[in-house]
Amino acid sequence: MKLIDGKAVAEELKNALKQDVSEYKQKTGRVPHLAAILVGDNPASMAYVGNKVKSCEHVGFKSTLISLGSDITEEQLHEEITKLNQNPDVDGFIVQLPLPPQINEVTVTLAIDYRKDVDGFHPVNFGRMAQGLPCFLPATPYGITMLLDRYNIETAGKHVVVVGRSNIVGTPISILLSRKTKMGDATVTLAHSRTKELQKLLLQADIIIAAIGIPGFIQEDMVKQGAVVIDVGINRVEDDHHEKGSKLVGDVDFEHVKEKCSFITPVPGGVGPMTVMGLLMNTYKSANKEIYP
Ligand code: NAD
Repeated sequence: MKLIDGKAVAEELKNALKQDVSEYKQKTGRVPHLAAILVGDNPASMAYVGNKVKSCEHVGFKSTLISLGSDITEEQLHEEITKLNQNPDVDGFIVQLPLPPQINEVTVTLAIDYRKDVDGFHPVNFGRMAQGLPCFLPATPYGITMLLDRYNIETAGKHVVVVGRSNIVGTPISILLSRKTKMGDATVTLAHSRTKELQKLLLQADIIIAAIGIPGFIQEDMVKQGAVVIDVGINRVEDDHHEKGSKLVGDVDFEHVKEKCSFITPVPGGVGPMTVMGLLMNTYKSANKEIYP
């Protein structure tokens, strides 16, 4: 079994990006600028956004954090989005999900100018991705393909089973891996809560991508010997041995599954840091007008 060290790969990529940013600065006199809107005080969201801001500092980006109260109205949030859409100094921005119940996430996603949608959630980017056109790839699927590439994991002709069909992970990664591209050409099965005989399907998978949100869902007896297992799940579970009284685990029963795999991602330190990398790469591409000239 080989551990896929997402943290180390993200560090390498960040150091390379830092170099690119310094050249970009010399050429243009400015640095790429990522903004983030955080609504409310959800501890997980605060931690994710904090990480993104720290990563911006690491690579030399400018970052702006806009923190809004959880009682904000949809209209007020839209005003903030419009300001960022119109601000020529902002290359890209994200609205950290989840949002409070009074706010419609779909409307918010649609309000973001797709040319600044560095999370890759806007239907224009999603549609362009599905058609193989230049776009901002959704950050997590982008991060996963960078990891597979870095570890020279062949996807062409392989059977990939993706478990989970969210708009931000499961569905886009299933499309990306099935396209006729370098990290694509796979035969993909997209499984979800209504899938029958999931274990039978999983046992045929050369590559499993788990994006479910249920701790330890993928068990040893669901994985073929030698399979590659990419665990996207981030679940906080109680743990008395930890000083915080809890710890983060993935959707894969790592300790039991790892012996059967050729490659496996840990949680934390697998896909998570690569999601941030996807976001940084999209922002850099936006600053360079690489996707939308
Ligand atoms: P989601 O929470 O929106 O949906 C979960 C999916 O799992 C659904 O499509 C559902 O059909 C499927 N599912 C639920 N029960 C199932 C079952 N019994 N059998 C088969 N499928 C089942 O998905 P999401 O937003 O992609 O999040 C999934 C996990 O990934 C969460 O733990 C989330 O925190 C994590 N996540 C991690 C990153 C990262 O950067 N590592 C990014 C996004 C999400």
